[in-house]
Amino acid sequence: MNAHHARVLIIGGGPAGYNAAIYAARANLKPLLVTGLQAGRRLTTMAYVENFPGFAEPVEGPLLMEQMRQQAENVGTKVMHDIITSVDFWKRPFRLQGHSGDTYLADALIIATGAQARRLGLPSEKKFNGFGVSASAIFNGVFYRNEEVVIVGGGNTAVRAALHLSNLASKVTVVHRRDRFRAESILKDRLLSKPNVTVIWNHVIDEVNGEHEPSKWVTGVRIRDVKTEDVRELPTHGLFVAIGHDPATALFRGQLDMARAGYIKVGSWSTKTSVPGVLAAGDVIDPVFRRAISAAAMGSMAAQEAEKFLAEPLVTPVETREIEIIGVYG
Ligand SMILES: Cc1cc2nc3c(=O)[nH]c(=O)nc-3n(C[C@H](O)[C@H](O)[C@H](O)COP(=O)(O)OP(=O)(O)OC[C@H]3O[C@@H](n4cnc5c(N)ncnc54)[C@H](O)[C@@H]3O)c2cc1C
Repeated sequence: MNAHHARVLIIGGGPAGYNAAIYAARANLKPLLVTGLQAGRRLTTMAYVENFPGFAEPVEGPLLMEQMRQQAENVGTKVMHDIITSVDFWKRPFRLQGHSGDTYLADALIIATGAQARRLGLPSEKKFNGFGVSASAIFNGVFYRNEEVVIVGGGNTAVRAALHLSNLASKVTVVHRRDRFRAESILKDRLLSKPNVTVIWNHVIDEVNGEHEPSKWVTGVRIRDVKTEDVRELPTHGLFVAIGHDPATALFRGQLDMARAGYIKVGSWSTKTSVPGVLAAGDVIDPVFRRAISAAAMGSMAAQEAEKFLAEPLVTPVETREIEIIGVYG
């Protein structure tokens, strides 16, 4: 069990976190970045990213994230693979606990923990998760080549995933609880022009059916018409759930003010949270845009605001550090 002290600690190894690190490092704040379970999580699930500037051709998601990590390290960021499991913002420096057992102290903190895929919440969905039920068409679509799959959702994530699946599966059925998609027009048009895609409007998934013998796997879904309550079965071996995301903010409940749906509340044109010295950037504060470029941009804002915060005199006394610090960054 080690203790680390950083002038700027960043939680999250996505575009927001890495870009915050690049800016903080270039300001000579020698940031420490904790990546969590999966560095660059969301974009590493993307086969290709087409809308990040600086790449004339579509760039592979994992490659883009690897470049960001290397750039952050090259300018002086220390990257650690750990998961933050608890935080204490009542004292300064802020104190965080890692899953590894390590303790982190931070004079300023940038939260860039992103958002996680939302689930339908059905016990049967949970039962067959990983056995035909998946939240990632990019990772798992390849297993359904020439098969019939079902995807539930109606936003950008669902439509992109359905497009991806339509290139692999023989038939893609999109189940959406409304009578139109919320996705960008270009994506909607692209999807609706696909001959092997059918959309079932105004329906929800009620139940995931499956078998246990000869092996545990999904065999179909029961769908319900939200207007008539009629139900029917759709046979499939693959259900993709693409119904949005929840911000990864459980860790900060009770410590920071939260906005709608658990997003961290920040000031207007600012990444400042309700606690001075704690900034938040990327999908964790953004229910609207949710793009790599906007997350990265917010990361740069957070780093600049952290720099400004550290340059100001402290309003509360710094706590005496009673634990041995083995790593001092900055
Ligand atoms: C399927 C899919 C396709 C997409 N395609 C595109 C696209 O083509 N173009 C585009 O611009 N955007 C795309 N997006 C959106 C884009 O991925 C996100 O907007 C972007 O990744 C958000 O960046 P972020 O840094 O805020 O969060 P994330 O990229 O989600 O990163 C969050 C980071 O926080 C870490 N973390 C979380 N909790 C902890 C913890 N407790 N301790 C330590 N670390 C933690 C995670 O491990 C992760 O490294 C797509 C999203 C999805 C789901």
